[in-house]
Amino acid sequence: MSAPRIVLLPGDGIGPEITASARAVLERLGKFELEEQLIGGAAIDACGEPLPAATLAACKAADAVLLAAVGGPKWDTTDPAAPRPEQGLLALRRELGLYANLRPVRPLPALLDASPLKREVIAGCDLLVVRELTGGIYFGRRERLADRAYDTCEYTVGEIERIARVAFRSARRRVTSIDKANVLETSRLWREVVTRVGREEFPGVELEHMLVDNAAMQLVANPRRFDVVLAENMFGDILSDEAAMLTGSLGMLPSASLGDPGKPGLFEPVHGSAPDIAGQGIANPLAMLGSVVLMLRHGLAMEDAAARLQSAIERALEEGLRTRDLGGSATTEEATQAVLAHL
Ligand code: NAD
Repeated sequence: MSAPRIVLLPGDGIGPEITASARAVLERLGKFELEEQLIGGAAIDACGEPLPAATLAACKAADAVLLAAVGGPKWDTTDPAAPRPEQGLLALRRELGLYANLRPVRPLPALLDASPLKREVIAGCDLLVVRELTGGIYFGRRERLADRAYDTCEYTVGEIERIARVAFRSARRRVTSIDKANVLETSRLWREVVTRVGREEFPGVELEHMLVDNAAMQLVANPRRFDVVLAENMFGDILSDEAAMLTGSLGMLPSASLGDPGKPGLFEPVHGSAPDIAGQGIANPLAMLGSVVLMLRHGLAMEDAAARLQSAIERALEEGLRTRDLGGSATTEEATQAVLAHL
């Protein structure tokens, strides 16, 4: 089998520093064809646009795309005609047809006390939020009139089927599908379609339905009960941030965005480009390395390598690795070496 082709998009701010960490880990893990391309502010500086054609073409031809972060004060502008770094990321998500956003939430044993929730509530919690990313109220018809405004929420059967399949494929025991079927028509369609996909295609996976208000409560009261949480765009947006707080640390969270099987996925940390600490060599690379884990697992079907890297990250933390954001003093390079030492 030929080496998987990965496009690395360092972007801006701390992006290049944490990308170097990901590159070191990938080179240790196996044989990959790695290619760096420009995106965001760095691309605006080099060629005047946030997603150059060469970058897009390379991403489309790759097996997976690993992005660090884009943006920074240098490119903040009030001129609506000026290019902005985030446009590069939004265009890339659209062009790659990424309709599923995956955010795993698993507070690591070594960091249990970093969460605002009690240790006994979050210990052992291991869940995955699967959020629909390209439909629903964020993309529906909307209008502002003199004394009122409206937004519309619309979902097609096809849109619900494909995101439901992502959730069922990722589940180990159960899918909890979130809706507001007691009020919303889109939710009643959602419930109907998810139920049918589960029954016909994934009979081995348990399915439960939960109203979004109840889910918001259960996530903080009893997060351990969840395996995969499946939600439409807006419910998923809100619940994934709520779930993220279970770990207590933005600097630790990876995410994956997937399109149709066989198309490259996009893997990236949840945090931004952290311009306040860029260039100092002190950024925490673990959300980026967690994104490499997701890429190996969901983008390249290399579960063994994914598990090895995840366990190396956890062992480094258990041995006391703490970057500044976690209250320690380890540099990006020291953190990378600590993880490499366990691979
Ligand atoms: P941010 O996530 O970049 O930073 C928030 C705080 O967290 C900062 O104090 C930063 O130093 C710290 N931080 C973030 N990541 C860290 C890491 N890996 N290690 C240590 N500390 C870390 O959010 P922000 O300050 O609101 O945004 C900065 C820029 O990033 C803006 O231009 C924003 O548009 C952009 N942004 C990009 C993305 C993305 O590329 N997906 C996401 C969010 C924000």
